[in-house]
Amino acid sequence: QVFGENNMEDIFQLPMESNGFPFQAVALTLDTLQATSSRLSSIEILSDLFLAILLKYPQDLLAAVYLCTNRIAAPWEAVELGVGGSLISKAIMEVTSASKETLRSLYKQYGDLGDVAQICCSKLQRLFTPSSLTTQQVYQSLKKIAQTSGAKSVSRKKDLVKSLLIASRSPEARYIVRILSQHIRVGAVEKTVIAALGRAFVILDAVRCNKEEVTCRAQVLKYSMETKTETKSLVERMNRALSECSDWERIITFLVNNAHSWNQLNEYCKLQPGIPLKPQLGKITKSVDEMIQDLGVDSDISCEWKYDGQRCQVHILENGTVQLFSRHLEDMTSKYPDVVSSFTAISRVSNAILDAEIVAVHPSNSQMYLPFQYLSTRARKDVQLDQITIQVRVIVFDLMFLNGVCLIEQPFRQRRSILEQYFKSDSVTLPETLISSSANEVEAWFNKAISNGCEGLMCKALDGPNSVYYPSKRSEGWSKIKKDYVEGMSDTMDLVPIAAWWGNGRKAGWLSPFLLACYHDGEFQSVCRVMSGFSDEEYKRLTEFYLRDKTLPTKPLYYQVDESLRPALWLQACQVWEIRGAELTLSPIHHAAIGLADSQRGISLRFPRFVRIREDKSIEESTDSQYIFELYKQQVKNT
Ligand code: ATP
Repeated sequence: QVFGENNMEDIFQLPMESNGFPFQAVALTLDTLQATSSRLSSIEILSDLFLAILLKYPQDLLAAVYLCTNRIAAPWEAVELGVGGSLISKAIMEVTSASKETLRSLYKQYGDLGDVAQICCSKLQRLFTPSSLTTQQVYQSLKKIAQTSGAKSVSRKKDLVKSLLIASRSPEARYIVRILSQHIRVGAVEKTVIAALGRAFVILDAVRCNKEEVTCRAQVLKYSMETKTETKSLVERMNRALSECSDWERIITFLVNNAHSWNQLNEYCKLQPGIPLKPQLGKITKSVDEMIQDLGVDSDISCEWKYDGQRCQVHILENGTVQLFSRHLEDMTSKYPDVVSSFTAISRVSNAILDAEIVAVHPSNSQMYLPFQYLSTRARKDVQLDQITIQVRVIVFDLMFLNGVCLIEQPFRQRRSILEQYFKSDSVTLPETLISSSANEVEAWFNKAISNGCEGLMCKALDGPNSVYYPSKRSEGWSKIKKDYVEGMSDTMDLVPIAAWWGNGRKAGWLSPFLLACYHDGEFQSVCRVMSGFSDEEYKRLTEFYLRDKTLPTKPLYYQVDESLRPALWLQACQVWEIRGAELTLSPIHHAAIGLADSQRGISLRFPRFVRIREDKSIEESTDSQYIFELYKQQVKNT
């Protein structure tokens, strides 16, 4: 036994095993994080774990980071575990001899398969003491599970899960199962992980410079105080590296091997065709006048139609391969073979990265754009060119990289001009654009965009500091004007259902209303209850979806919900819904953006209506509290 049953002894006193960093320490850290609500403490706890790994087994750090962030590969690598709740349940039953009824009743009590696995495995009478699982072993087993395909793959996957459970010690089974069911959610979000890693690397460096041994947390804390500035600077570099090249493996390998040359991190982990960058986002504007004020009264503004399609990052590689990535950085090349073929024969281009929107067009009139709903009916992968039923057009609106040269720091005017020179062709369209700063002209242009089936305008700074391309940022240089804002309604929000009540009357037996939340630093703050906009079919489908295996026994610590609300069921934060509302108001009950507009009250949305599920957004990409606050400020300004 490496640790006491439920007690994590000082992580720096761990008796180290010869074959790698014990997974039990990772699991115990995740247990501790689960019980921590402060972001600062979460960073320290996670950072101590990473430091302990770096001191003895630096080669295990990547595996630990992946496991703590609930991933086993980069988003574009399409590595899927392919393990469902029923396979995991069968593995638990076969390993522990627990009956189906026992599992069912434990699940009802705890609402989390990881907890169920932990309880069952802890009662396991073993004939032998399992040798300890290392972090690397767990990670490699998960990769093996993901790679298992073909004949009898279900039973081979189950055998691999069983071997992990048999070898597990408290509380490893809990996290093995949570990772398998892709559900850790203990606040180890990317921002926390970056801050924790930055702190760990800087402290390691300082300790080594002083030729000291790390023996306890107090000593680490002292170092952490002394190295705050260095940590801040490394965290900034890491943030930049991760938004330009979302590849943990590349970043961690560099940091582990180059202790004294972190300033070169951004040289090494930078934009390159084949690795997607996090896309730039736009901020909302309520009116044309306001947009002109924001982007510069006397400056030229590029006012582009805002197409209602799917964001797509196009990568052209040296060997001629074309890859397409979603807003989420997932590889969607096989969904759009028609878009790929538009880029295969572009002359004078040896490699490039472009930002684009794929829009559905009318089957018999390719000039007519159709709403996103049409596009969403196209199959998700392996679409064959000769079987395409939903016709699309690709509209390229930015160019970040061309022929070996990174362009993101060039002003947009320059990027746009190169984009036009190299890419405008019969198969690739540039957005309809008006260059102007005249309110009358822009207003007329906006109306034209709307009458052509677009959502509004994306207005972009052409020159100056705001016109560079900021990966992952909601940039000041992009303002979106949508029909909704101009009509005086608030923008739709992308919120996460976190709880529900049981419906009455016609809705008896279905979940209704749902409690929706926005994202706030790894936590979810309630915004409103929604009970309209759903068809009966949707009610049925959503109720079945959540009741199958997505309810929680208690309110997680990272849900900020007022006690007076008392929902009937807590739901796993796992979907993002687009919600339209009438107005944002200050609320004594809802906690969204609490402390921003008012010290005691949060912001709530009146008359919310369900629009659709945003399959393309992860829960971390749901509307955040700062954005709600911005929307609220806009609204106050306009009244
Ligand atoms: P966000 O992406 O800002 O979080 P969202 O996904 O709900 O929010 P919107 O706010 O409606 O999207 O607008 C941004 C999206 O508009 C971009 O992500 C892109 O997919 C799309 N878009 C359409 N036309 C353009 C254009 N000409 N320039 C930039 N983006 C465009």
